[in-house]
Amino acid sequence: MSSIYFDNAATTPCDPRVAQAMGPYWSEVFGNASSPHQFGQKAKKAMEDARCQLASCIGADPAEIVFTSGATESNNQAIFGVAQRLKDRGRRILVSAIEHHSVLEPCEQLAKQGFDVQLIPVDAQGCVDLEQLKSLINDETILVAVMHASNEIGTIQPIAAIGEITRQKDIPFLVDACQTIGHIPVNVQEMNCDLLSLSAHKFYGPKGIGALFIRSGLKIGRYLHGGDQERDRRASTQNVPAIVGLGEAICLAQEVMGKEAEQHMQWRDDMIQFIEKELAPVRINGHQYDRLPNNIHCAFDDIKGESLLAALDMQGIAVSMGSACTSGVLGPSHVLKAIGLTDDQALGALRITLGRFIINEDIDVLKEKLKSVVNTLR
Ligand code: PMP
Repeated sequence: MSSIYFDNAATTPCDPRVAQAMGPYWSEVFGNASSPHQFGQKAKKAMEDARCQLASCIGADPAEIVFTSGATESNNQAIFGVAQRLKDRGRRILVSAIEHHSVLEPCEQLAKQGFDVQLIPVDAQGCVDLEQLKSLINDETILVAVMHASNEIGTIQPIAAIGEITRQKDIPFLVDACQTIGHIPVNVQEMNCDLLSLSAHKFYGPKGIGALFIRSGLKIGRYLHGGDQERDRRASTQNVPAIVGLGEAICLAQEVMGKEAEQHMQWRDDMIQFIEKELAPVRINGHQYDRLPNNIHCAFDDIKGESLLAALDMQGIAVSMGSACTSGVLGPSHVLKAIGLTDDQALGALRITLGRFIINEDIDVLKEKLKSVVNTLR
């Protein structure tokens, strides 16, 4: 039986056009981008083209882009880098309560070293409260981190407004855009952010490659030592094939974004209506309007998410409860707890995330299987 993939927030398949663009860079154009000879310079040219492609898509200057191994590394680099550089100015770090673990765990490490890490609460729809944020900022605050959209419940944050607050106070602002770039517009000028992280595999690019935008003029501490690549900001030989893939993937995403988002929103809203009508009692999580086009998140009081997932998988439907990065962790999601769900409610979670290669018939199959599995489990 073939399966249908509805877990695009965990990762997306590499678009065949992206894989094709990467092809020559494995063995034909294989040079080290730091080598001065022709082999190296050809690789460097491809890498710099991709840097320009990404920069132009997010309103940045190419010199502001550092290629990394993914958003986890970007978040770690941003957080430890700011802490190291600004520790003499202050020690308070503010992060939203629903950040990804690649933001929360570096902050936990810093808290052990004496930094004053505070969680910014969110409301029942998962939105950061701007007044609460303002009240948490003090003279010691050196970093604010709020993700663009939640990987679990899909809520999109008022990033530009948060950036206005941090800018007035001259506090660096980190935005984890892992779930939004390539899906909805991301522009570092409009967002008023100073640092922005992303991973290519969330927008039909390869895994293990990402980037960190560092606004020109913002100096942060080094994270990886041992080479002067990436303008001396990240040591290690660059992964040129993956970087080429990232460039191709962001260009493709930019081309199709409007149409794709429109189609996903139609399916998303139709699915939400279906779930509310056919599968009650159920709660829909996340923001009613400001949510990722491809995200449907709900919770059943009377069904365990784990059982639901397993039963759907047996029926050829791949979904998840939330973050794939913590799927080995037993216990309710911190995001669902932060929006006010009880442990039991949070354990009944179901996340469906739509993607580029889904067709109308797949949605019909999803509805049919979901209804039958939910009824059986009940
Ligand atoms: N931030 C968010 C919001 C994510 O969804 C993810 C991936 N699940 C990451 C960071 C980490 O990305 P990666 O695993 O590619 O490093």
